[in-house]
Order: sequence, then structure tokens, then C-alpha cells
Amino acid sequence: MDLSKDDSAFWVLRTFGYAAVAYTTGVLGSSLINFTIYKKKVYFTDLFAQLPNRQALCKKLLECSKLQTTGHFAIVIVTVSNSKTLAEIFGNKVLKSIFHQFKDRYSDIAERMSSKMETYSLGTNQISFFFEKNEEETLESKEKFEGSIINASKKNFLHDGFFVHCDSHIGLYRFTDFSEINSGELPIGYAEEAVDTAVKQMKDLVVYNPSSLVQKSKYSKATDLLGDIDLAIRSRWMFLVYQPKIDIATGKIQSVEALIRWNHPVKGFVPPGMFIPQAEQSTLIENITDFVIKQAILQLKLWQRSGIDVDIAVNVSTYNLLQPNFVNKVLYLLQENKLDTKKLEIEITEGSLITDFQHVLNGLKRLHDASIKIALDDFGTGYSSLQYLQKLPIDFLKIDQSFVRNLETSKQSKEIVKAIVDLAHTINIKTIAEGIETMADYDYLNSVGCDMGQGFYMAKPLTSNAFVSWYSENNGVFKKVES
Ligand code: C2E
Ligand code: MG
Ligand code: MG
Repeated sequence: MDLSKDDSAFWVLRTFGYAAVAYTTGVLGSSLINFTIYKKKVYFTDLFAQLPNRQALCKKLLECSKLQTTGHFAIVIVTVSNSKTLAEIFGNKVLKSIFHQFKDRYSDIAERMSSKMETYSLGTNQISFFFEKNEEETLESKEKFEGSIINASKKNFLHDGFFVHCDSHIGLYRFTDFSEINSGELPIGYAEEAVDTAVKQMKDLVVYNPSSLVQKSKYSKATDLLGDIDLAIRSRWMFLVYQPKIDIATGKIQSVEALIRWNHPVKGFVPPGMFIPQAEQSTLIENITDFVIKQAILQLKLWQRSGIDVDIAVNVSTYNLLQPNFVNKVLYLLQENKLDTKKLEIEITEGSLITDFQHVLNGLKRLHDASIKIALDDFGTGYSSLQYLQKLPIDFLKIDQSFVRNLETSKQSKEIVKAIVDLAHTINIKTIAEGIETMADYDYLNSVGCDMGQGFYMAKPLTSNAFVSWYSENNGVFKKVES
């Protein structure tokens, strides 16, 4: 550059030139610094949950390990098992709000126990907490801590004015000395293993201990079965059997309950109690219920064509009612098959209603408004609440077998059954007794005015062909025989 030039226009231009270069360099430099900070932040942050992420927890643990920190440490991992359903209903934001409420609740616990606590998001449905404490823990304080974190996970969460039920399982790993750990990943891995076990065993909380490694193979059985469900439906290893429901006073064969059966080619007969509760923990219950409803509707059409006029009941899980399009799907299937909605009954178990009551209620109301009948199954077990009877649109109340089974020997069961029948009738609900095994049970139920009955005394669950024969033999009306 020639500095001797005395040209004012040139100098002005040059000054601006320098300023522009200096400005650009400054901006670029600070942008670069900002970008590096941003990259670091992104690397260690779950931007969606706005919490430090797994890498951040790993870094923290590795630092403690390098410093050979000693104290009393606990890594807690919480898995939200119904995260998918919740996100479908409320949108993804619900998980962020659950995570932050967990953080607040666990911070309170840490404060009460004079511990320090940090929160990390481990992904879409897992959150982790790192607790540090100087004081040694007694068995009592350990149990108190475990009780507190379970209780805090069970309370409903508030999101957008709705109470949300969160199905959570907790894994816990405790240790005292980082010098033995020498890794950031290892303690997370132990806590992860504990939470996996909690999910598989459907336990609220599992504390890691090395022997749980051996137990792993035990639980793989249930998961093996889950892997086979889809194939089982497609290959017809799953099929329905039908148990008649009788009008007790007249003997008329009013309805049948469709019950699923699984004949596994290797494992043999698998009872519904072994796979339904597992399937309810995943979206597989959707496939099962879809199959059951379609099959039940087709079966009813076939029977109607051969002159058998009964209603059909299917068991539906609360998880189905939480699917946004479940009700539409049922109504569509009935319409597509030109089946009167009055012919279908939905049985829903009382215990399962605690999950997100409002959504279940909305789904049931829509079904009921479309003239589908609703039965409250297994009444008297679990979480009986008279509020359910008042709030739910119920047509039938199914008295649980445990009361019916003891009718002959227990005066108390007799009184309970009579009280349930009377109570139901006062609020216009019909009663169905499950598990009738003897004529004496049948007669007693008739004497107290129980409307309908189902049980081995009348008929066990029957295959479609066996049901047709049984129905024809009885000419549509069950005739009592000495049991
Ligand atoms: P549930 O809906 O209460 O069905 C009644 C159960 O009692 C059936 O067992 C039936 O075989 C049995 N049972 C009926 N009468 C008698 C009797 O007189 N004595 C005795 N000892 N048992 C009797 P099952 O078929 O093993 O089903 C068990 C449970 O599995 C059902 O209880 C229901 O909750 C569930 N389940 C069955 N099929 C399905 C399905 O397709 N979907 C869903 N979500 N759950 C199902
Ligand atoms: Mg049932
Ligand atoms: Mg039942």
C-alpha cells in the first residue's frame, strides 16, 4: 500500500476498509467463540428437556472419579413407561413438564435428607438424578429414601391443567468410593440395568446388585413372549373362545364373553394372565385388542347368519381407551360390518381405571352414547370406588369370582353379593356374577335378583364350533342340571 498518496477520498476509503476488516474479524472471532460455547452447550444439554444430558452426567462422574471423591452417592434413573401414550395424547411437551416436576420433587427429598442433587435427562423417556451425601446411610435412612422417591413418582403430574398419570419405574445404584469406579459410564450402566429390571418385573423400584445379572435370563421369558405376539396373531396361534352369559331368571343365553387363547408352537398354552399385563406395557395391546374386536365382530356375523342371536363382550384395556382413535376405530368396524352397536359390550377392569380417569371416562362416554354397552369387570377387587359407579356410564357390573366362589361357605360373601346387587339396582345398573360353579351358587344369585351369570356350571369358555353345538342343544335357553 502506498502511504504517501495524498488523496482524501482514498484515505476515507482506506479508513473504512480497515474498519470493515476489523469489524468483520471481531464479529467472526466472537461468533467463533460463541459457536464453540454453543457447541459445548449442545453437546452437554438435552435441548428439548432443557436439562444436562447423559454426556454431562458421564463427565461429572468421570471428574469425581479422577478426583477419587469419597462420600455416599446414588444414581437414580426413572423410566416413564407410558411416555409414548402420553406424548400421543398431550404432545411431546408433557414429558418436559413431567421431568421438571420430577426434578422439583426429588430436590425437595434431597433437601430433607441433607443431600446434594443434580438432574440429567437421559433421552425421551428417562431422567436421572445424582445424589451426593457426606453422612453415612443407615438401613432405615436407605428405606426412607427409597420410599420417598417411589411416592414422589406416583403422585399425578400437572400439565396444561390436566392431571397426568405417569407409569414410572426406578433403578437405583448406590456406591461410596469413586476410586473403585474409574469410569463415568459404569455407574450409569448399573443404574440402567436396575431400571430395566424394574420395567421388566413391573416393580416400582429395583436397587442394583450384582446378582441381578444372573436373574436377567429369568425375565427374558416374558420379553420373548412379547416378541412373538405379532407373529402369533398373524399365524392364528391366537384365537378366541366364547363363554356364555345367561339371564339367571329365565336361562336365556343372552351374550358371550370373547376370551383370548394363545397356543404357542414351542411353549404350549400360554394363559392370558401371562401376556396381557405385559402387552399392556407396550403398544402390543393395540394389536391384541384390534384382533379381538375384529374377530368378535366377524364371529357374531357368522352366528347371526345361522340364527344365533347373542351379544358379544370383549375385554378392553384402559391403554386402548387412551389411544386417541380407538373409539373411532370401534365404531368404524361396527359400521363396516353392518353390526348393530347394541350387540357389542366392552368389559373394562375396575383396577385399571386409576390410569388417567378423565380420558378413560371420555372414551367410555363416546362408546356408551353410540349404544355400546359397558361392563365394569372384576368388581369388588382392587380399587373399588363408589365414585366410579356414579361417574362412569356403566350398564353392567360384573361381581368378581372371589365373592361368588365362596357363596356356599361364607355368609359374608353372600351378604356382600346381595349388597352389590341391591346397590347396583338402585342406580339402574345390571349385575353379572362371574365364576358360578354350582347350582347352589346359581340359585342363590337368582334369589337375590342378580341379573346375569357366567361360569363353569353353565359352560366353560368354548370354541366357536363348540358354542354353536352347546347353544343348539340348549335351544337358546340354559336348563339347570344338578352340578
Ligand atoms: P375376565 O375378563 O374376568 O374373564 C373371566 C375369566 O374367568 C376367564 O379366564 C374365564 O375362563 C374364567 N372363568 C369363567 N368362569 C369361571 C368359573 O366358573 N371358574 C373359574 N375358576 N374360572 C372361570 P381367562 O380366559 O383365563 O381370562 C383371564 C383374564 O384375562 C380375563 O378375566 C381378562 O381380564 C383377561 N383377558 C382374557 N382375554 C382377553 C382379551 O382378549 N383382552 C384383554 N385385554 N384381556 C383379556
Ligand atoms: Mg372380562
Ligand atoms: Mg372378570
